[in-house]
Amino acid sequence: MASYKITLIPGDGIGPEVTAAAVKVLEATGVGFEWETVDAGETAVRQYGTPLPEIVLESLKKNKVGLKGPVTTPIGTGFRSVNVALRMTLDLYACVRPARSIAGEGTRYENIDLVVVREATEGPYSGVEHWVDRDHSAAETINIITRKNSERIVRYAFEYAKKEGRKKVTAVHKANIMKCTGGLFQEAAQKVAESYPEIEFEERLIDNMCMQLVKKPNNYDIIVTTNLFGDIISDLTAGLAGGLGIAPGSNIGDELALFEPVHGSAPKYAGKDKVNPVAEILSGEMMLKHLGENEAAEHVWKAVCAVIEEKKVVTYDLALPGYTTRPVKPSKLSEMADAIAKKVEKM
Ligand code: NAD
Repeated sequence: MASYKITLIPGDGIGPEVTAAAVKVLEATGVGFEWETVDAGETAVRQYGTPLPEIVLESLKKNKVGLKGPVTTPIGTGFRSVNVALRMTLDLYACVRPARSIAGEGTRYENIDLVVVREATEGPYSGVEHWVDRDHSAAETINIITRKNSERIVRYAFEYAKKEGRKKVTAVHKANIMKCTGGLFQEAAQKVAESYPEIEFEERLIDNMCMQLVKKPNNYDIIVTTNLFGDIISDLTAGLAGGLGIAPGSNIGDELALFEPVHGSAPKYAGKDKVNPVAEILSGEMMLKHLGENEAAEHVWKAVCAVIEEKKVVTYDLALPGYTTRPVKPSKLSEMADAIAKKVEKM
């Protein structure tokens, strides 16, 4: 039986709990895994004096595949984002975030099936910013957009559409205002689209896209966009499909792939055995597909859907009014993970 060596980054806050849940479910598939656990974020700062120790990068470069929990990034001051550093250092340029309705009742909208493909190595996240004057009364951020990386991400979106049998790619930008950066991304998208006549292509301005998504989400399929817009819009699509608790994601490069949920480390819930483990579990499902373990991935998806549909063992976020019409007593994170793992084992 194949055994995969995977880099496991438990992360901060709720990270260790949700990654433990995902490991349990992935192991229940019967696929063999050898986990190489390495710390990043606040945990690593305490141990190594840096949020991204070399050992994390070395492990990922060696194993080529990783499963990651969320990592805290201090706001305003403190260390730079570990996520941004990982994506840039390892050239994990495509942040792929599917938003799928899981069970009719557990979602704001039924039949949501969107994928956000976010460029993850440039834009304002390049970290080139400075104070304009000595008394810090003005600041400037440089938004770097390159033709090479814009074409690369749009091509990734079209190739993904081809592989997954998807029908349409929508490129999202703000070329009316940001004539150079937005215009360049728009031009790159139009050029790449010409090579894929079999897939429908359209463009939207970011503001209009947000409104359209809330009004008519089913008109869209794959959305490809720059770093900042993709960051924001993937939280929006996660909300449409049922919330951050069920929104998985991946960071893909030509050589490496790192799977992680859209949500952050939710520090106020850390250690409470309370949050929804599904986003991390479905990030694991995406990892199984990446490894070619399609049957195991299908089992995980079906088990997650069944547990959410039954509404017997779901965490607080899926037991809230608005997500269910039935009174549901919220279960613990570990109970929901156990229920999913048990179903997977039986398949
Ligand atoms: P967050 O996603 O951590 O939490 C926002 C809210 O979403 C939570 O308070 C909770 O109500 C809900 N939520 C999140 N995950 C959930 C889950 N699994 N189940 C149920 N509900 C869930 O966002 P934040 O509070 O803005 O950020 C906290 C920290 O996480 C920050 O330091 C931020 O930088 C970091 N962050 C990390 C990543 C990452 O590592 N990829 C992504 C986003 C944010």
